[in-house]
Amino acid sequence: MTNFDPYSRLIFLDNEYHVSQSPNQHKVLNPANLNHEGTIALCSTQEVEQVISRAKEAQQEWKREDEKNRARILHQIASSIEDGDLSEVARLMVLEEGKPYPEAIGELANCAPIFRYYAEMARDEGGLLPGTTQTGSFQFSKYFPYGVSAHIMPFNYPIIVMCWTVAASLAAGNACIVKPSEATSLCTLKFMDHFKILPPGLVNCVTGGAETGQALVESKNINAVAFTGSVEVGRSIAVSCARQMKPAIIEAGGSDPMIISQHAPLDVAVPGCVMSAFHLSGQICVSSERFFVHEAIYDEFVQCFVAMTKQLRIGPGLEESEIGPLVSESAREKVIRLIEDAVRNGATIECGGRIPPQLTQGWFYEPTILTGVTKDMAVMREESFGPVAAICKVRSFEEALDLANNTDFGLGASIFTTSMDEAFKAYNTLEAGMVWVNNPLIDNDALPFGGWKMSGIGREMGRQGLDAFRQTKMGVIDTKPEIQDWWYPYSDDWFYSGKGRQV
Ligand code: NAD
Repeated sequence: MTNFDPYSRLIFLDNEYHVSQSPNQHKVLNPANLNHEGTIALCSTQEVEQVISRAKEAQQEWKREDEKNRARILHQIASSIEDGDLSEVARLMVLEEGKPYPEAIGELANCAPIFRYYAEMARDEGGLLPGTTQTGSFQFSKYFPYGVSAHIMPFNYPIIVMCWTVAASLAAGNACIVKPSEATSLCTLKFMDHFKILPPGLVNCVTGGAETGQALVESKNINAVAFTGSVEVGRSIAVSCARQMKPAIIEAGGSDPMIISQHAPLDVAVPGCVMSAFHLSGQICVSSERFFVHEAIYDEFVQCFVAMTKQLRIGPGLEESEIGPLVSESAREKVIRLIEDAVRNGATIECGGRIPPQLTQGWFYEPTILTGVTKDMAVMREESFGPVAAICKVRSFEEALDLANNTDFGLGASIFTTSMDEAFKAYNTLEAGMVWVNNPLIDNDALPFGGWKMSGIGREMGRQGLDAFRQTKMGVIDTKPEIQDWWYPYSDDWFYSGKGRQV
């Protein structure tokens, strides 16, 4: 056991911090200035198995707890988050991820309700008691936990996305092992303090990259997987899980469309688009990346969008800025590649399109607006996951809907319009797991979150988010044993009357 120290290569096990046994490590660099902010362990398969085995033991007790008691403890976690000092976790998130401080605090301040929500939902309804098919037979179904769930997390919302699935998994009676992104392991480890209320071993955290993640996914002792991250990694995890018939929620990437109709209220649409394109430097799974703007309002929209974007302040997350750095050098290189490709193929840079001259130390990039973009450009086919808004001019609302759906992704989609008809048509036509009309990016603990097409399988939050971590068992209990009329031997009547009984 040791105290939390960002440089000590820690894991969280049995409600305590321990120095990892693994000699392999990863230096955590601050994306705003490349300072060395901490060191994490790259946990080995052997260490991962040790942690899983401890979680498995702890789950044996937890699964026997009654739902009321589990709910009581989940409410205590929520209270600990609400009443606790979140500033150190937020500070670490800023230092390792580059997120502006108000957004880090905002993320943490929204984590408690999901624990309360699932605490009560799991208590409210533990199965199904339908009408029976045989008089005197008790026929029902109850939920059971899977065992130990692995939670493989992305860098962009390291804590809240983890809470969505950990809360559901605990409420369903499982133990959890969290594997944060290499870029956000320090804040995740520090957040583990709030789980010390639980019986030891129920929520644990191991650190590392792809190999540590794979060790979890492929372990025979992991019974369910919650993954949030890129399509490429999500697909490989889905394949691994399928091989073992292991349930998996895959929340993958997107390249969300944003439609600006000719009926859009531009005074609202412009600030809404600046937020949905550039919030967290465009590193939100549901950031608007592909813009389809009606020709009737195109010039005015582009002019105002560019003007407002140019006012955004770029800088380190602990200073007064709206736009922080990208998380890594490779993330910035991808953005640069997509912009260069678009320009080579005829697009115009309306603003941005460069590393800010005053901020060459970290991985900053100016919020960039491209016009003259066509559907075949790489920026329209790949997820840029950076501060890039690519705009196409469209002649009609129908053309916008067609182009919006012309993608392998299907996470979210947004539109600004004051036409009721367009609002409902967009909701019904857009091929995405979430559609926002005049209010992009918002989520709701009580509504399912997840994507269509390549953007994922399964849902987090809402009732479906809980069901992902529990399995049903049908029960038929006849307290008075009786020979049933359809058992062997069949009577002659049955052979000759054609009245055969079907199960
Ligand atoms: P990523 O796919 O690179 O990594 C996600 C996690 O998977 C990390 O913890 C990483 O270490 C781990 N990992 C990498 N290779 C692995 C492997 N082979 N086996 C097991 N684990 C492995 O994603 P990222 O860069 O951290 O996050 C950005 C991506 O996440 C974007 O594509 C974004 O759209 C997506 N995202 C989706 C949602 C959603 O709800 N759909 C939410 C947030 C982020």
